[in-house]
Amino acid sequence: MMHLRIGGVAEWFVEPFDEQGVAATVRACAERGLALRILGGGSNVVVADAGVPGVVMHLGNLNRLQREGQRVTVGAGVTMAGLLRSTRSAGLAGLEKLTGIPAEVGGAVAMNAGTRDGETFEHIVSLTVVERGGGLRILGKEDFQPRYRNGGLGDAVVVQATFELSEDSPDAIFARFSASLQKRNTSQPVSLRSVGCVFQNPEGDAAGRLIQEAGCKTLRRNGVQVSERHANYFVNDNSGTAADFLALMDDVRDRVADAFGVELRPEVKFWGFDDR
Ligand SMILES: Cc1cc2nc3c(=O)[nH]c(=O)nc-3n(C[C@H](O)[C@H](O)[C@H](O)COP(=O)(O)OP(=O)(O)OC[C@H]3O[C@@H](n4cnc5c(N)ncnc54)[C@H](O)[C@@H]3O)c2cc1C
Repeated sequence: MMHLRIGGVAEWFVEPFDEQGVAATVRACAERGLALRILGGGSNVVVADAGVPGVVMHLGNLNRLQREGQRVTVGAGVTMAGLLRSTRSAGLAGLEKLTGIPAEVGGAVAMNAGTRDGETFEHIVSLTVVERGGGLRILGKEDFQPRYRNGGLGDAVVVQATFELSEDSPDAIFARFSASLQKRNTSQPVSLRSVGCVFQNPEGDAAGRLIQEAGCKTLRRNGVQVSERHANYFVNDNSGTAADFLALMDDVRDRVADAFGVELRPEVKFWGFDDR
C-alpha cells in the first residue's frame, strides 16, 4: 500500500469516473457477493502479503472542489493537503489542525482523522454517501455518531463532504499551518514509510508513552521497527512484510499488557487477513 509499501495487490481495482460509477460498483459487488473495500490515500491500511480478495475501489476521480461563502464542498478523492491549500488561500480557517495528515477527504471523514487540537467532523455540515444498496443520499452531520478515529459511517461510501469554516486572513492561517507542520515534523518520522499511529490512545493516556515505557522503542521484526522518534509509529525499511508488521504489533501489545495491564487496540485497518 502507498504509505507503508507492504502487502500484495487487489484481486480487482476499480476507479469510477463519478458518483454514478461508485453507485454502480457498489450494486455490482452486492449482486455478485464480492467483498468491496474503499481505498483513500492508503495511509491507515495494512494489506496482507497475499493481497486482497474482491474489489478495492479508489475515488481519485471525485476531485471537485466548490466554495460558497464559508462552506466548501469537496469530492472524496481530493487530498487533505489540496483542500488545506485551497481553503488557506481563500481565507477559510479551521482545518489547520489537520495539517500533515496524509489522507484523502473520504479517508479523513471515515476515520474522523484528527490531532489533540481537533477532528475532521468538527467542520462537517453534510456528507453525500452511497449506501450499500447502491442509493445516493445526502445526510446531515446529525445522522452520524463520530467517535475517536471512527466517523461512524457503517457501510456507507463517502463521495462528497461539505465543510463549514470560518474567515481569517490567509497569513494568520498560514502561520498556524506552519506551526502544526513544524510540530509534526519534529515529533513524528514523517519521511519514513509508516501508517501513522498503529494503536489507538487509551482513554486519558498515550499509546506512544506506554509503548516507550514498556521498553519497545526500536524493537524490530525483520524490516519493520518501532520508530525511534515516536513509539506508536512502526516504520518499514522497504524490506518488511505484513507478517513482520503483525508480529511486531502482537509483541508490542503483549509487552504493554504485561507492563501496565492495558490492552492496546489497533487504529490501523487490516485488509486480506482471515483473523483480523
Ligand atoms: C505519517 C502519517 C501521519 C499520520 N498522522 C495522523 C494524525 O495526526 N491523525 C490521524 O487521525 N491519522 C493520522 N494518520 C493516519 C491516516 O492518515 C488517517 O487515518 C487518515 O484518515 C486515512 O486517510 P486515507 O485517505 O489514507 O484512508 P485509507 O487509509 O485509504 O482508509 C482508511 C479507512 O477509511 C476507509 N475509507 C477511505 N475512503 C473512504 C470513503 N470515501 N468512504 C468510506 N470509507 C472510506 C477505508 O475503507 C479504511 O477503512 C497518519 C498516517 C501517516 C502515514
